[in-house]
Amino acid sequence: MATIRVERAKTLREKPSDETKLGFGTIFTDHMLIINYDEGQGWHDARIVPYGPIEMNPAAMCLHYGQEIFEGMKAYRGGDGTVYLFRPEENFKRLNSSCERMCIPKMDEGLLLESLMQLVDMDRDWIPAVKDSSLYIRPFIIATEPKLGVHASESYLYMVILSPSGPYYPTGLDPVKIYVEDQYVRAVRGGTGMVKTGGNYASSLKAQDVANEQHYSQVLWLDGVERKYVEEVGAMNMFFVIGGEAVTPALTGSILPGITRKSVIEMLKSWGVPVSERRITIDEIADAYRAGKLDEAFGTGTAAVISPVGELKYGDLVMNIGGGKIGPISQRLYDSLTGLQWGRTADPFGWRVEVPKKQ
Ligand SMILES: *Cc1c(COP(=O)(O)O)cnc(C)c1O
Repeated sequence: MATIRVERAKTLREKPSDETKLGFGTIFTDHMLIINYDEGQGWHDARIVPYGPIEMNPAAMCLHYGQEIFEGMKAYRGGDGTVYLFRPEENFKRLNSSCERMCIPKMDEGLLLESLMQLVDMDRDWIPAVKDSSLYIRPFIIATEPKLGVHASESYLYMVILSPSGPYYPTGLDPVKIYVEDQYVRAVRGGTGMVKTGGNYASSLKAQDVANEQHYSQVLWLDGVERKYVEEVGAMNMFFVIGGEAVTPALTGSILPGITRKSVIEMLKSWGVPVSERRITIDEIADAYRAGKLDEAFGTGTAAVISPVGELKYGDLVMNIGGGKIGPISQRLYDSLTGLQWGRTADPFGWRVEVPKKQ
């Protein structure tokens, strides 16, 4: 067991008075976790301290060259008050593979899980109880060496902040409208599309603006070379149900390997629904639509879990999928995953991890 120093907040922050109006990512809890890295010392000084601003040298490398990575996960409050995480070891595995790509020193996954459990336990009263709300968990690493030369930093900060968040669908599972982007690209093979690093999101904002102007909520990215193959949406992986088979783009290096994606594939297989991970062109999807075989389309990600797509616009073609309603496979996945995450159902896959109460 690693020792994690704890400095408790002297005054507690005010909790939101109305849990039904939490929104996403604007309120933070009483504490945060910090671990430092310095060349020669390795990762050291793990500590939980009161939430608040950090001091930073204006020459810190993350501010100039974007050497940073992050993760996104949730803590869920079960009906009896038990607190759960969902496959957290997968997030920490992915954090380390992001570190590898971005030249950030890897971390001990055991320490990451243990320290997260301790932080969530300390701030467990912040986990909302309203149905489908959760505590969003944001681990991240930034390069802090104060130097303007372009190279990998010699010092870093790993931090975790927690944000109570409302249900993703306050008015029910409404299908989203998505715009297929064929000008801008998000990532190319050999780039950083498969890691959660800030630059991917900064460079996606422009296309998001264009889509929003046309009243579409998100962008579906095509591959960066031929602009032909479907990749993913904003912060979600994509699935298409075509003639009874679920198809999702293969992880070719430019797509983020989502943990929800992985779980959906495993769940569908356990139900005997055929699933294929392969390259799929936007034209194949358009053809399936015209032939009446595009049964369902949905995105997967930690925030929304399952996000049904009701409309997909590609050039002049507007595909209306599922008559504006969520399809049966999407609904079953949503119910099964959320049931499991909030502890309402059994956990045959062993994906749920309880946060023990120690405080
Ligand atoms: C985080 C993210 C996803 C979804 O990953 P999950 O592990 O399922 O939350 C998909 N695409 C991108 C670009 C992401 O950043």
